[in-house]
Amino acid sequence: MKVAIIGGGIIGLMTAYYLAKEGTNVTVFDPSPGKFSIHAAGLIEPYRFDRINTSAMIYKMLKYMKRGVTEVRQLNRLWIRELLLNLNKSPPEEAWETMRAMAKFSLDAYSKFAEEKNDFDYANDGLLEIYSKKDDLEKGVEEEKRSPFSPKTEIVDVPGFAGGIYFPELSRIATEKFTRRIISEVENMKVKFQQKKVVPDLEKFKIGNLKFDKIVLANGVWITSTLKLPVTSFKGYGLWIKGTTKLKEAFVTVDEGIAVSPLSDHVKVTGGFSADFTEEWKGDRILDKISSLLKVEDIIERNMGFRPCSPDGFPILGEKGNVIVATGACRLGWSYGPAMGYYASELALDKIESLGYLSRYVESLEY
Ligand SMILES: Cc1cc2nc3c(=O)[nH]c(=O)nc-3n(C[C@H](O)[C@H](O)[C@H](O)COP(=O)(O)OP(=O)(O)OC[C@H]3O[C@@H](n4cnc5c(N)ncnc54)[C@H](O)[C@@H]3O)c2cc1C
Repeated sequence: MKVAIIGGGIIGLMTAYYLAKEGTNVTVFDPSPGKFSIHAAGLIEPYRFDRINTSAMIYKMLKYMKRGVTEVRQLNRLWIRELLLNLNKSPPEEAWETMRAMAKFSLDAYSKFAEEKNDFDYANDGLLEIYSKKDDLEKGVEEEKRSPFSPKTEIVDVPGFAGGIYFPELSRIATEKFTRRIISEVENMKVKFQQKKVVPDLEKFKIGNLKFDKIVLANGVWITSTLKLPVTSFKGYGLWIKGTTKLKEAFVTVDEGIAVSPLSDHVKVTGGFSADFTEEWKGDRILDKISSLLKVEDIIERNMGFRPCSPDGFPILGEKGNVIVATGACRLGWSYGPAMGYYASELALDKIESLGYLSRYVESLEY
């Protein structure tokens, strides 16, 4: 069977990996594989899942806008419509079961890759959420008690702040190193790369003059140029920093949504959550907001990415007539990446037919 994967971000690469492991003939199309995934903080934090279609989340976004963390420049209209139609509606329990299975699969997968060879700064040392206000910390603690993932948490002191919630089960990686590792593994398994932007013919199953049995669309926010899906972009920035942090483990400041991860040869700092599809750079200002916790000596590299967000935060993963859709994981694409790649491969190999709630939108697609 010949499978084309459009998009070589974390989701497309993981799909290629699991398909190639089954001996499938795979071609990945992407002008620059990994380019729009490596900016991420690399926190493997599937338990920090946010439902988007809630009044609480809209309120949080408004607070972010007031603080200058978020700008709203452009939103997919279909996304707004679905968000409003489904505001405060809960997903079925089956959706949470799938997410819990995907969270476990992904955490285990990174751990296994690291056991084989830890060439991507894998660290299983947990994640700290830092709160500046006591009220917010208390609300955060209550939220975790209600979390469908039932994560282990500890409340800790953080000097200069109201405190923090520590998640001991979470891990982290260096995204650019993991991307290099997976590209090398899939190349060894004979996956081909065509470094170009393509427009698939979903009726004839052709890309240019190449014919395929299945086509996987894993091209993030750009999926909407091919399919009518409620996916919108929340842009953010990633900076590779030479400097020192006050804490040795990874942390996220809840007020600003800034993540910091000290890695072997740099500190990764990410932030920004703007409804925006443009490549305009506004990333350096993140560093001013984190100056009490990070001393910057130099900026080594700057990258940006576009979180592909569904209206409720749940990934969009399903198949319609030999076209597989794998996107929508929003701010947790790396956290769920291995599982999304695995289940996309299971769909392509006809081992499963559907992912239930996660296949909403896909099974009714028209193209
Ligand atoms: C600042 C920031 C920090 C983040 N931190 C984390 C984190 O710590 N943990 C976490 O789990 N997630 C994190 N995320 C989210 C994560 O980065 C995204 O969910 C993830 O990158 C989405 O992966 P993807 O493969 O779906 O899409 P992308 O990474 O956007 O990849 C899509 C690919 O498709 C290609 N493409 C597009 N159109 C075409 C076409 N027509 N033909 C061929 N190729 C095409 C693009 O070139 C691109 O390489 C963060 C995001 C941001 C913005």
